[in-house]
This record gives sequence, C-alpha cells and structure tokens, in this order.
Amino acid sequence: MKVTEHIEKAKNPLFSYEIVPPPRGRTVKDVVDIVKELVPYSPPWIDVTSHSSGAFYHEKPDGTIERRIYKKRPGTIGICGIIQNRFKIDTVAHILCNGFTQEETEDALIELNYLGVENVLALRGDGVNYNKKISNGRRINNYASNLVTQVDNLNKGQYVNEEVTGADALNFCIGVAGYPEKHFEAPNLKQDIRFLKQKVELGAEYIATQMFFETSHYINFVKHCRSVGIECPIIPGLKILKSVRQLQMLPKNFYINFPEELVEEVMANPEHVKEIGFNWACRQVEELLNFGVPTVHFYIMNDVSTVTKVVKRFM
Ligand code: FAD
Repeated sequence: MKVTEHIEKAKNPLFSYEIVPPPRGRTVKDVVDIVKELVPYSPPWIDVTSHSSGAFYHEKPDGTIERRIYKKRPGTIGICGIIQNRFKIDTVAHILCNGFTQEETEDALIELNYLGVENVLALRGDGVNYNKKISNGRRINNYASNLVTQVDNLNKGQYVNEEVTGADALNFCIGVAGYPEKHFEAPNLKQDIRFLKQKVELGAEYIATQMFFETSHYINFVKHCRSVGIECPIIPGLKILKSVRQLQMLPKNFYINFPEELVEEVMANPEHVKEIGFNWACRQVEELLNFGVPTVHFYIMNDVSTVTKVVKRFM
C-alpha cells in the first residue's frame, strides 16, 4: 500500500521508521533483527536509505595508495524486497540522483515494482567525493525534482528510452525531502520552499522532513508550506539523542541546530544523556501529536530499542 493511503486510512497517528542497509561485508542479519523488533509495533511502512558510490583510499603493502570506487552500503532494493515480502510490511525505497544514471534508476524502479514496492523517496543524495563518468548517451538527474519527473513519467508509462512503446505504467507513490531548518545550500528558507513546491507540483505526494530537535521549527515550516499552497502530508522525522558526541556530529552532518535547553541539560548531566534524549523525544512526540501530525517518523540507524520505548508510550 502507498504511504498516502496509509495516512488517509489511519484512525490514529502512525509511527513509521527508517533503516540503513548494512555496510559492505556484513550480512543482512542485523537489519532483519531490527525489523523483527519493529513488528510488534505494526509499522505502516519502513524506509530504506540508499547510498551512492564514493572514493576510498587504501594503502597497499608497498606503501602506495590505491583509490577504489564502491558503495559502502549496497542493498536498498534487496532489503526492501525482504521487508515487503517476508514481513509483509510496506517499504519506501530511497532513490538518488547522485551516482546513478537515469537508465540505472529506471532499472531499479522496475525491480522495485517486481518486488511489490509501491513507494519511493526521491532525493538528490548527499555530496559524494566521486563523480561518475557519464558515457554512451546516458543521462543524469541533477535535482530531486528531475527524479520526481522521471518517476512520474514511469507512472504514465513513459520510459527513459522513448523506443519503449505501449509500455505498462508503474504506480509509485513519490515522497520528497523537506528541511524545517532549510537545506544547507539554500540561500534562505523561502527559496528552499519554492523548490520544494516545485517537487510537489511535478508529482510528489508527500514530504518527509529532515530531523529536528526543536518542534517549533517543524510547526513553522508546515505553516510556511501551507501559506504557499503546499497541501500534501508533511511527515516529521525524529532522531533520538543518545550520546554527547552527537551534539557535534548531527549539526555537522545534517546541518541542524540543538535547542539551548537540551544542550544545557546534557552538558550538566552528560552521564544521563540517554535518559535526557529519551525524555526529549517523548516531549517532541507529544508536541507533534498535539499539533495534529499524521505520522511520526523515526530515524533508527542502529538504536531500535530506544525508539520502540518511545513509541510504546504513545500506542
Ligand atoms: P533537492 O530537492 O534537489 O535540493 C537540493 C538543493 O538544491 C536545495 O538547496 C534546494 O533548495 C536546491 N534546488 C532544488 N531544485 C533546484 C533548482 N531547480 N535549481 C536550483 N536549486 C535547486 N541522502 C542519501 O544519500 N541517501 C538517503 O537515503 C537519504 N535519505 C534522506 C531522507 C530524508 C527524509 C532527508 C530529509 C534527506 C535524506 N538524504 C539522503 C539527504 C539528501 O540527499 C541531502 O540532503 C541532499 O543534499 C539534498 O537532497 P534533496 O532531495 O532535498 O535535494
């Protein structure tokens, strides 16, 4: 089922989740274990992130450095297939512009369709330290809006290769990313929301937000979106703080701010950071539910037990 159908049919607010494929060299067991832990909480859907190739440098025995190009975390499609078909839980496959040609994206979408996956989150992808050479007439998507158009075209039976005629239309529900504290490259929030609106006009049916620790950022973002005519569901994304180190790492990696109150509480009691993070997340969920959100979406990474502890409080 599509994300939008889940939201329309829900009688109570939903709790959805995002997981990350294992690093290359690890089996899928840890991810499957996370899904097993989520099953009792009846997730309406689970997002699976996608990762493009990067350049990695390895020192060889003779002291020279070798540059290798590979994906650190392959497996998005396979994991979606497992969750969708073994656990009968709907999935949202993340798809990226960066690192993929339009032809490769089309192949991925065909495979997702065969596996019964009905949702994609169309993203530009994080900056990579490697630019794939594009050859043999292949094409790329520069912005998530181009990717939305590509999926929307497939939903109308238009494939990248125009010679494919009389083709079956696919039927993906398309989500896109939104940034309550603005995307780091955007000159201001107004401009960022202008491009967000373009993604919706081109076919996106819902918005999933970047994590935020100050609920008012999300509420103001939703109000701003509504004021410019963006009417689709805007799903808030939450991450639970679990270490002091994250006070530096999360702003560095995700360009978000921590509220003064939370930082001061953690600095005063660093040994209790997990408890403080848990209480803060519960407070945010309560604020979001009071605001009337359709869903709260949790970024799990590897910490499923704290997330389920929070969800248990509200189910
Ligand atoms: P876009 O919508 O393309 O926007 C990128 C920037 O360009 C913005 O500043 C925007 O304002 C601007 N812009 C947009 N359109 C135009 C235009 N036509 N002309 C000029 N400027 C324009 N990354 C991953 O690699 N894998 C993942 O699985 C992943 N999952 C994510 C899930 C969520 C919910 C979120 C919020 C982010 C996720 N990301 C992921 C990170 C995301 O890929 C990065 O934040 C990326 O830098 C931007 O992606 P986007 O889709 O928002 O890009």
